[in-house]
Amino acid sequence: MELVDIGCNLTHDSFDDDRGAVLERARAAGVVQMIVTGASEAGSRKALDLTRSHPGELYATAGVHPHLATDYTDITDALLRSLSSDERVVAVGETGLDYFRDLSPRDVQREVFRRQLRIGIDSGKPLFLHMRDAHDDFYAILRDVRDRLCDVVVHCFTGSRDELRQYLELDCHIGITGWICDERRGTHMLDFLSDIPTDRLLVETDAPYLKPRNLRPRVKTHRNEPAWLPWIVGSLAAARGEHPDFVSERTTENARRFFRIPAPDG
Ligand SMILES: [Zn+2]
Repeated sequence: MELVDIGCNLTHDSFDDDRGAVLERARAAGVVQMIVTGASEAGSRKALDLTRSHPGELYATAGVHPHLATDYTDITDALLRSLSSDERVVAVGETGLDYFRDLSPRDVQREVFRRQLRIGIDSGKPLFLHMRDAHDDFYAILRDVRDRLCDVVVHCFTGSRDELRQYLELDCHIGITGWICDERRGTHMLDFLSDIPTDRLLVETDAPYLKPRNLRPRVKTHRNEPAWLPWIVGSLAAARGEHPDFVSERTTENARRFFRIPAPDG
């Protein structure tokens, strides 16, 4: 069974010593393609660099995370525009709003989110969006421009049933992470995961973050990696009352359609 991890931060320095082995384990687990998240100026540049040595297997996004919104300048904007014109950059983002940690002032986050949405409009590329504890502002900003944007994924969705409904009304795709495998905080979602239409469903590890807590046998490290995507698919399939093979097949198909990427050759 083939899987596509639509969000992994493979440029993170926790992978510097064994990135090759991490990719090898991902392949062995059936994760045949990965979208490397660009979440800062340097990170987006690195993400694109990484795809060069793994053509057809790795693709990148280019964006600045809301945590880093205060770093966003005209130079950043120009860089993201230039990166997003590369064919290996398959989405604009990670961008959005995060009022949970509030690492950048909220008005700056909103402005920088709007600027990156404009890059999405101008480039015609899909959008990879982050939202945490900021639904009302995020929804309002997105709704204003939604009809001028290509496909949109709300990655690492952790919100409520109502928020989910509103994103689906805006024809967003929904990215599901190991959050749903976490009995301490993800269980509220189990009741409404089956509300997501099959063709709007995407899966991602968000590695090195959010290691699935249902991994067996247990592993000591806190670092998550793409090889563990099947555990997320397993939890998602169970919550939806579907077979994991069905969820794998459909989410892979969705990911390739969403990012406009072909299946890797043999
Ligand atoms: Zn995120």
